[in-house]
Amino acid sequence: MSLAIVNTYILTCKGGAPPITNGAVGIEENNIVFVGKNSEIDPNGYERIIDGSGHVTMPGLVDAHIHTGLSLLRGAAQDVPEIEWMNKALGPFARHMNDEDHLASSKLAVLEGMRAGTTTFAEFSRDVEHLIDEVYVPFKARVAAAETINEIVGRKEELYELEPSKKSLKKNERLFKKYQGDMVEPFYGPQALDMVTQETLRRIKERAGVHHRKIQMHVAQGGRERKQVETRYGTSTVKKLDELGLLKENLVAAHCHGAVAEERKMMAEKGVKMVGCPSSIGMIDGVVPPIKSFLDHGGKAALGTDQTPGNGAHNLFREMRTISLLTKCEEKDPTVLPAWDALNLATKGGSEVLGLNHKIGTLEEGKKADLITVDLKKLNMTPTVTKPFKNFIPNLVYSSTGSEVDNVVINGKLVMENGEFVDIDEEALKKEVEQRAQNVFKRAEEDWLEADAHMVKYLKEGHI
Ligand SMILES: [Zn+2]
Repeated sequence: MSLAIVNTYILTCKGGAPPITNGAVGIEENNIVFVGKNSEIDPNGYERIIDGSGHVTMPGLVDAHIHTGLSLLRGAAQDVPEIEWMNKALGPFARHMNDEDHLASSKLAVLEGMRAGTTTFAEFSRDVEHLIDEVYVPFKARVAAAETINEIVGRKEELYELEPSKKSLKKNERLFKKYQGDMVEPFYGPQALDMVTQETLRRIKERAGVHHRKIQMHVAQGGRERKQVETRYGTSTVKKLDELGLLKENLVAAHCHGAVAEERKMMAEKGVKMVGCPSSIGMIDGVVPPIKSFLDHGGKAALGTDQTPGNGAHNLFREMRTISLLTKCEEKDPTVLPAWDALNLATKGGSEVLGLNHKIGTLEEGKKADLITVDLKKLNMTPTVTKPFKNFIPNLVYSSTGSEVDNVVINGKLVMENGEFVDIDEEALKKEVEQRAQNVFKRAEEDWLEADAHMVKYLKEGHI
């Protein structure tokens, strides 16, 4: 199919070039074949024309760290102490979810992300192959998929018992053979330094090096990990990863807020990429992801939404605003992380972090056609002025909610048109998720009350 979006504002996200007013984008098959002035495109050469007046056309957003399988538990674990979040608040519900609940959750999260303009998802999950085949491929979304490798065999408070698992490594490596097309980019997915043996990490490092593969891993994500790593290795996560030779350009490190300044500098200098999840980490840990300091050291960084309970949503427009706002507050400086830098984190920056910048992340001729249109005529985006500057750049970050996205194109295919998914039954999915959530919450009620996290106190006080 060929498709042109005409009469539109264009944000290429290439950097160094101002936004285009009265522009057009041409797509043939999977690729962008024209980006430029409206007057220079021949609309007769395209089968479909979308009138983009009053809209910005920009690259589809890149969610560089997401676990989609828990979205059925939206609202289940927030406003609780960090130490309670995983085991007492989330755990009692998560334990009562079955495989179908996880699958429905994943569909909900991906659909929610697409609706808010996300076209690439860096999924981090156990049995990720199942999600690729059942969710990402049928939904036509682009995925950078990491299979979770977790080698904990006994969860003792002072030190987890770990055992190398050839089985999960094999499962991870099967992805590289199976998915060699354009839409799925497999990653190695060792969960974290406290959850995987150093034998397995060494093996991953060697194989990833030989076969030019990438690794995504949670790095320095807080107190529990720090305690485990210190007890086991007598050093910090970043120093141990350096000793193991993992701090390289092919490592995508999620979170990193537990790393001290000099460690972040070392990681950035060695070419490690960073993903920050501002809403999730802000909500669960009360911490601002150190994206600014990573960028200041010349590093590449991106944004992720992590998981629903915690974050609350899978919406990168929210993440752009949140990281900008939190960083300004933390630095006590309203000039830091301006709107264009936040936009870069969710587009070009995201594609660079995932090593997909040769395909996506900017609107350029020859790249894959992953793009969205954003309606500037909504109340919260009104007015739009273009002289002396284009106010839609700050408005995209500070005024948008993500619900202004009305057309989504992935790999040249129109997956959402005028706010409606082209061939996904959104209503049926919502109905299924509602039903499943009622059942899970019911099954978990007793365990949840017994775990007695802060949420139980809030219930007793009549707040929720
Ligand atoms: Zn994560």
